[in-house]
Amino acid sequence: KDESETYSDHIQQNINYVSDNYNQQDQMFNITQLKEYALNIKGYYLAPGNVQFKYINPKNKIGNPDEILKKHEDLYNWVLTQEINEPKDVDLTNLRPKHTKYERANATIITLVRNSELGDISRTMESFEDKFNKKFNYPYTFINDEPFSDEFKIAVKKLTNAPTYFAVIPQSLWKKPSHIDPDLEKEGINALLEDEVAYADMESYHNMCRFYSGNFYNLPELQKFKYYWRIEPSVQFYTNIDYDVFKYMQKSEKVYGFVVNSYDSAESVKSLWPETLKFLNMEDNYKYVNPNGAFQWLLNDIQYPTKNAVAGGYSTCHFWSNFEIADMDFYRDDAYNEWFKYLDSTGKFYYERWGDAPVHSVGVGLFADKSKVHWFRDIGYYHNPFYNCPNTPSKRGCETATFTNAILNSENCMASWIDYGIDDLAAIY
Ligand code: GDP
Ligand code: MN
Repeated sequence: KDESETYSDHIQQNINYVSDNYNQQDQMFNITQLKEYALNIKGYYLAPGNVQFKYINPKNKIGNPDEILKKHEDLYNWVLTQEINEPKDVDLTNLRPKHTKYERANATIITLVRNSELGDISRTMESFEDKFNKKFNYPYTFINDEPFSDEFKIAVKKLTNAPTYFAVIPQSLWKKPSHIDPDLEKEGINALLEDEVAYADMESYHNMCRFYSGNFYNLPELQKFKYYWRIEPSVQFYTNIDYDVFKYMQKSEKVYGFVVNSYDSAESVKSLWPETLKFLNMEDNYKYVNPNGAFQWLLNDIQYPTKNAVAGGYSTCHFWSNFEIADMDFYRDDAYNEWFKYLDSTGKFYYERWGDAPVHSVGVGLFADKSKVHWFRDIGYYHNPFYNCPNTPSKRGCETATFTNAILNSENCMASWIDYGIDDLAAIY
């Protein structure tokens, strides 16, 4: 749907939204107040202990959504154009395998993949081995809801010197739970189809989203690992990574690392945020909220107010989960785990089409200290249709600062992360 939407359609819709809201909200607003309103809706402060949002004063964001989008594009361009080599907030000297006794972190590469995707995962592995893993040999854990074929196993083993593990997901962690009501499910799918949500009626995709949201870290084969790097079929890496990213996470005490930050299909997560607020209001669940969470990033709405409105106050900004380097103990802790159990109990992984990316992102935004969330700006990456293409000396194959084709530039949420997620850009990079 977003692909057919032109750049100016997007802008027009957002301008319409702001002026509609103005008319409905308060006829006494004059044009100055309208501007203020358009500005003010961007900044919220979520106070632990209650669900009240309070505006914070926007200082540097003046203008209509089209102007804001332009500013955000400029900011993104400027940051991506700044030369970067490796992160600066940790001493990386001992994080390079110079000898065979190099001690790896407790980590694995993971990928959920089908036998039929052998060709596409092989292309990913070739790029991944070349840029990173041939130097580190972190083990791979291949995950599937069916047994891997011998052909698959033999072929991927040939592409790496690292250990390879093959995990078949227990049905209880994969299949649609028995409490899902078939009528509600049908109704939900019809609504999603109406809204042209991708994969709306593909049950396996719902299974996949639920599995990656709340179950993969409970796989028996992953119990022994703390960190994972998720890869997917048909992705590409463009920069040499010469330091151990897992040890970087460990040393800097980071819990979650990403490369792409984008807006989601709001129709797929209509009630993810409202259900989350319901959860927080139950018992004393606010105790789980981290006082230094990325609340403004979760709730911003100046670039894409229409999405925020459809998603009940959630920006739909999410870390794109086809690339993740993260600490599974974060998910295994009570905060994330109790919240996931609540989300699962609503059935909306099937009645709606909650993706694992927005679920991880809302969880990280609420329950993690935002200083523990890391943008691996130095790592060049592509998964159709978005890039992280930094100005890193070793970068080959993408053009610096390209996010995607111009039509989809409005889907880029990184400026919001730069504004609200990162306290001191210079200290990290
Ligand atoms: P997209 O990136 O959202 O378009 O979704 P993908 O088709 O790439 O799916 C996300 C990940 O889950 C990929 O690594 C897929 O290989 C994997 N995946 C999706 N559905 C299934 C499934 O039914 N079985 C298995 N084994 N893997 C799946
Ligand atoms: Mn994919």
